[in-house]
This record gives sequence, structure tokens and C-alpha cells, in this order.
Amino acid sequence: MKVLVINAGSSSLKYQLFDMTTEEVLAKGLCERIGIDGHIKHQPTVEGKATFDEDVALPDHAAAIAIVMEKMMSAEYGVISDASEIGAVGHRVVHGGEAFTTSALIDEKVLAGIENCIPLAPLHNPANITGITACQAVLGNVPQVAVFDTAFHQTMPAHAYTYAIPHAYYDKYKIRRYGFHGTSHRYVADRAAKMLGRPIEELKLISCHMGNGSSVCAIDGGKSVDTTMGFTPLAGVPMGTRCGDIDPSIIEFLCDKEGLSVAEVLNILNKKSGVLGISEVSSDFRDLGSAAAEGNELAALALEVFPYCVSKFIGAYAVAMGGVDAVIFTAGVGENGISEREAIAKNLGAIGIKMDTEKNKVRGKETDVSTDDSRGRVFVIPTNEELVIARDTVEIVKG
Ligand code: AMP
Repeated sequence: MKVLVINAGSSSLKYQLFDMTTEEVLAKGLCERIGIDGHIKHQPTVEGKATFDEDVALPDHAAAIAIVMEKMMSAEYGVISDASEIGAVGHRVVHGGEAFTTSALIDEKVLAGIENCIPLAPLHNPANITGITACQAVLGNVPQVAVFDTAFHQTMPAHAYTYAIPHAYYDKYKIRRYGFHGTSHRYVADRAAKMLGRPIEELKLISCHMGNGSSVCAIDGGKSVDTTMGFTPLAGVPMGTRCGDIDPSIIEFLCDKEGLSVAEVLNILNKKSGVLGISEVSSDFRDLGSAAAEGNELAALALEVFPYCVSKFIGAYAVAMGGVDAVIFTAGVGENGISEREAIAKNLGAIGIKMDTEKNKVRGKETDVSTDDSRGRVFVIPTNEELVIARDTVEIVKG
């Protein structure tokens, strides 16, 4: 079966077409500036087919899907001969609230369920719905599956997801920790179990997804039991531009002192904080490394705050689970940030985890980077959220 995986944002749409008999990617691409002007980069991975990278008018998401399909079937850029070869579409959906504990075949009821979660993810869920309705319009009755960022974390126990605020707000508004990056944490946990050669059911794993957005997840027996992101993806460790955990009183204080509205402060906490905010240099860890090497003290400080916060959560989760068999690093910084990983691992000897700094000199490759005498392993594992979405889609469509 060929599966089209879609990750729709408000003005963008990322896609990958998988041949699920081999799990090979046939083509991938990105539509940008949808509803503004429009640009498509379509990259077939099949030999003899060219990349298409041009400005194309994209008035809406349906137009983007229609042009993606045209490229998929064209003689020059195409990898299929007919749209009917696509057996199913898998969609990344950011928030499934408490309604979705697993991926789901999209019908009217599921679509309504995703709509009900819009108040929990007002920026993401409407874009995801637009992606779904655009595919319905262009591809007709092809089965479509929603794979939720939050679903993996629905196994968290109440003591991990409950905030210490009046319980009535949970009853009325479902204010609680949800957690995100679930597909990534699930994928790398499965890979770690394979690398250890042990059933996931008997493992205690700590997964550190560190990219533009970052979250740490405690996975006990293959189930998420705690994670750093919360009601929204703003919580937890500091990120590229997001603040992570701060004292909530800071919001009112900043409103008063700077004459800002709550919305303006939240915008600062989402887009101008994190390592960008600390360093005043960049949200990209490569830029921070260069700036720190040139003597920029704030960049150096950002490069201390980030690993300190990540390692604090690793310690907390090792205690919360009563042990840890492996710590996993994934996503942009986790897969490539050699010095960031080393800084995080520096004090993990306290929980029986020792990194081999020579083995750690690796980028983007599944590797065990722990010392031989380390009680728990340290793994670098490239994530593959699209493959998880494609696998879930096949499983659900095949029933
Ligand atoms: P992601 O959101 O997973 O695509 O991760 C993107 C982030 O990965 C970038 O913003 C960089 O901060 C980080 N990154 C990519 N390559 C490197 C590298 N070689 N060293 C450190 N960080 C990196």
C-alpha cells in the first residue's frame, strides 16, 4: 500500500509518500506560503526523476494538495501513474485532548472530535483540519487517518497529569498536562528496545526530543508516564524560542511593567524566549556554539541553561520510574548536538548513566554512546515521525 503522510500548518503543508511494502519514501516535499502567494519543493527519491522547486500560486490547502498530486503523477517529477495508487492518507494532528488515546480513522465523528480540541490548540488543530478537508476534496473516498501528538501521553497517571490548581478547572475545561511529540517519543522508544534486544514492556526509558521544540518523556514499559510539555507545548525545558517552565507570576509582572497585554506577553514567551531570549543571538544551537566560541557570554549562558534543565528532568524521571535502562537523544539538537549531549550527560553518573565522549562524536546515526561500564545505555536515535504515521495508517486501514 502507498500512504501519503501530511503535516499541515496554517500556511504550509509537508508531505511524504511511502511505499509501505518496503517502508521506502518515494517522494517528499513542502508547500509554503499557502494563502499568501505560494511555493512548492517536490523531491522524488526515485532515480531519474527531477526535483520541482518553484513559486506556484497556492490560494488554499486544496490547491496545494491538487498540485502535489499533479507533480506525483507527472512524467518528469512523478512517482505514481494514477491517484488510485494512494491507498490511504495519514495526518499529523497536534491535539487529541482526552478523546483520542490512539490514532483514528477519520469520519465525521472523529473530525468533530478534532474540532472540539481547537480551544486546546488554537493555532495547530484548525490547520490540521484544513489539511484533512483539502485531502477529502482532492482525493475523494481514500481512507484518512489522524495520528495525534498527544495520544501517546494519554497513559500518564493522574498524579503526573494533574496541575495543583482548583480541580473544578479540570472538570470544567480539562486543564491538565497533555504532552506532545508523542509519535517521536514512541518511535525512538521502540528503536531503543530493539537496540537493547529486550521487550519494551520491561524497560524504563527517558527520551529527550530536542529540536526547535523540546520535550523529555519518561517511558515505563512502553507507556508514557510523564513528560515535560504540558497543557500546551510552551512548558518544560527551554526551547529555541519558547520559555519552558517559568513562574506564572512573571506574566502579570511583565504586563504591569512593560504595559503589555497577556496575549503580547504570551507571544514573547512563545516566540522570543528560550535560548533565543537568553542569548539575544539565535534560536539555532549551531549559531549559539559559534557565538559562544567567539566569546559571547549570553550565548554561553544559553548553552548552560538548556542542558542543565534537560539533565534535571532526566534525574527527576529516573527517580519517578525507580530506575532507567536508557536515555535517548533525538531530533535536530539530540541527533547532531555533540557538545549539547555531552553537557547534559555530564552529571548522569548519579543515576548510573555514563557517556563515552569519543563514541558521542556522532551525528544523525543510531548509535550507543555509553561507556561499557555504564549501568544504563545512552542512545542517539534519529526520529521518524512520518514513518510512525504511515505505519499507524496502514494498521488502522487494514483494520
Ligand atoms: P528540529 O526541530 O528537530 O528540526 O531541530 C532543529 C534544530 O536542530 C535547529 O534549530 C538547531 O538548533 C539544531 N541543530 C541542527 N544541527 C545541529 C548541529 N550540528 N549542532 C547543534 N544543533 C543542531
